[in-house]
Amino acid sequence: MAITVETHDRLDDAARALASDQNARFHGGGTLVMRTVNEGDEPFSKLVLTRDPAYREIRSSGGSVVLGAGVTMSAILANRELSFLHPVARSVGGPAIRSAATVGGNLFAEAPYGDFTTALLALGASVEIAGSGGQSSIDDWLRDRDRNRNRLVRAVSLDRVSDDRSFRFRKISRVKPKGVSILSIAAYLPGSGSRITGARIAFGNMAEKPVRSSGAERALDGQSINEQVAEAAAAAALDGLNPVSDAIASEWYRREVAGVHLKRLLIEG
Ligand SMILES: Cc1cc2nc3c(=O)[nH]c(=O)nc-3n(C[C@H](O)[C@H](O)[C@H](O)COP(=O)(O)OP(=O)(O)OC[C@H]3O[C@@H](n4cnc5c(N)ncnc54)[C@H](O)[C@@H]3O)c2cc1C
Repeated sequence: MAITVETHDRLDDAARALASDQNARFHGGGTLVMRTVNEGDEPFSKLVLTRDPAYREIRSSGGSVVLGAGVTMSAILANRELSFLHPVARSVGGPAIRSAATVGGNLFAEAPYGDFTTALLALGASVEIAGSGGQSSIDDWLRDRDRNRNRLVRAVSLDRVSDDRSFRFRKISRVKPKGVSILSIAAYLPGSGSRITGARIAFGNMAEKPVRSSGAERALDGQSINEQVAEAAAAAALDGLNPVSDAIASEWYRREVAGVHLKRLLIEG
């Protein structure tokens, strides 16, 4: 099928073009969408792009950071103020993929991808939709993701993490350093003194999209991290979650290892 390519100077015009045509798809870095074009396995007839500078902008003010949806993993790695996100950005593919892969595209990436989004979920990011789409919490946005396919993401915003100990990320894969994840874990552990308040623990690749572990979060809240607390969080990690079986790992395997890796992340950092 012939595909039309439309490039807009302004994000809002690109958003309108995307929203007005069910057969249109947005092209971010193209690492996933161009695969689909080449394989012809999804019937769409238009690719929408934007050259709006705001789309690729990184803005910091006070304690918060706004990442334009077109910011690439490489751009994050080149930004010192975003050092807390470097382990996450570095975990996405190899150098060629990272130079194209965007934050916005990662929000739509299905398992086994979506490592960056797992971190955004733990960090409690907000997702801003272009046009008059407003803003939603990443939890709500992920819940409604399938309905958001024709809404252009403008940016994500999040609080900057200044204390390295309060945000941790680990990707578990069979092939190092670039394999896809069996699972990834992101842990946001804010607190006052040594006690954690408002823990957010997210797993990637346990389901078709990143999910939070409310069991682990409950086990950590109000506690200081030690062997016993980490063990309790690991034991509760899968409460209410149903890991998937796929070509990378079985449900059984994911159940066996998720708590082990969460405990290591909590104890070792
Ligand atoms: C070899 C290889 C290795 C990879 N390794 C990893 C990995 O380790 N971890 C990982 O998480 N991912 C990985 N990926 C997947 C992918 O590269 C990343 O998830 C990347 O962040 C996707 O971003 P993109 O800009 O390339 O998305 P695109 O391909 O441009 O788009 C993907 C989807 O998102 C939609 N989209 C993109 N941007 C927006 C926007 N702003 N608003 C609305 N819709 C939008 C597109 O329409 C499309 O449906 C890999 C891919 C390949 C090919």
